Amino acid sequence: MSSLTISGGTVITRAGGVRADLEVTDGRIRSLSEPGMAATGARQIDASGCLVLPGGVDPHTHVMGDIVAATRAAALGGTTTVLSFTNPASGESGLDCLLRRERELAATGPVVDVGLHAMLYEPDRVRIEELQAIRDRGACAVKVFLAYAELGIMWSERGLFELMTAAARTGQIVQVHCEEGELIDGLLDKALVSGSKGPRVFADTRPPQAESAAVARTLATAAVTGACCYLTHLSCASSISQVRLARHAKTARLWAEVCLHHLLLDSTRYESTDAERYLVAPPLRSLEDCEQLWEALSDGTIDTLGSDHSQTRSETIADISLSGRGYYYGLAGIGARVPLALSRGLARGLPIERLVHLVSTGPALAFGIHPKKGSIAPGSDADIVIWDPVPTTTLGTYSFDDGTGDSVYDGEPLVGQVRDVLVRGEQVVRDGHYLGAEPAGRYVRASRSDPSRL
Ligand SMILES: [Zn+2]
Repeated sequence: MSSLTISGGTVITRAGGVRADLEVTDGRIRSLSEPGMAATGARQIDASGCLVLPGGVDPHTHVMGDIVAATRAAALGGTTTVLSFTNPASGESGLDCLLRRERELAATGPVVDVGLHAMLYEPDRVRIEELQAIRDRGACAVKVFLAYAELGIMWSERGLFELMTAAARTGQIVQVHCEEGELIDGLLDKALVSGSKGPRVFADTRPPQAESAAVARTLATAAVTGACCYLTHLSCASSISQVRLARHAKTARLWAEVCLHHLLLDSTRYESTDAERYLVAPPLRSLEDCEQLWEALSDGTIDTLGSDHSQTRSETIADISLSGRGYYYGLAGIGARVPLALSRGLARGLPIERLVHLVSTGPALAFGIHPKKGSIAPGSDADIVIWDPVPTTTLGTYSFDDGTGDSVYDGEPLVGQVRDVLVRGEQVVRDGHYLGAEPAGRYVRASRSDPSRL
């Protein structure tokens, strides 16, 4: 039996921070003990002066383009469970893609544990047997888009209704990319006719109203059907208002997510010469929207904080680029998510417990992998981050070495450091350095579905 003791730190549990020593055996947390009272393990880690956190759970990533590089960056940034979208190929069903991605994960060997969200790229095609099979394979959720007609993946209102009706029966969470595709396409056609070009057009044709309208209709459909919905990457104050209304009225079962870039970066980036680097959907919003998102993280309106890490960028279909070669969109951030959330969140006065909930416990709860993941408690996997609150550094392009070659967080000041990281008791990061051990990440199955939060 392998054993490990982590002593001297302050452990952040769901009940709050507590001075405790941790005993780990066979990859799981065995006990929390009074300082100095834990049985001495075969290995010891001194966490004096540090916080001991549950490993991060990133609810929103696209890592399949380079699983090893993305999950190594996740580990360096204190994320020990990555939930990735499947991104089906043209004509591939949601189930077939899920099975293919499971095989790819097994063949590749991720550095941290990985779960999958099955994307349904065939709009309005609802098959109860396929949904059941996706659920039974342990997929954390299904995901659909209310935009991207040009890619052939945009679901109609009727399709969403049928899917949510079925998902309420199968007990699956329906993740929805909330942007009104028809409104966006109208704005884009108008811009093209008028000859508008440039990165700004990408952002201006995806306004906050297109997002909050889609949020409202998703919440209405969830309420009518009884399905549990998960709203991805909410980016603006008007969407937050819709979530607050639904939570207040207790009409829909919902989980709500914000992603790191919408908190830290604002739409003035689209005025700069390197504006294309910041293209993402939904786009970066106003400074006022950023402030409202922070407020919603603080007051509990938002449940989870994701990265929307894109290992490879997507190409725009309509040519709005100044060069005529098209634009690419999607951002990398799997490594930066936990360190920047802690650094910026604490500076804004958010309690550490709330921040840990957003980056770890909340995503694990939403997707049915808690308490195996997302908490430091007896019986949970020993996915642990030892975080030193003192060091001050500046992030660089290659701080997390995610293989994308760019980081929109380059130059961001950072307080605190992910010092050590353990995945199921195995140390993968020490003193901020990746240890380069044989990748030991596993496929994580959702053990239960449909946890409701009204
Ligand atoms: Zn995404």
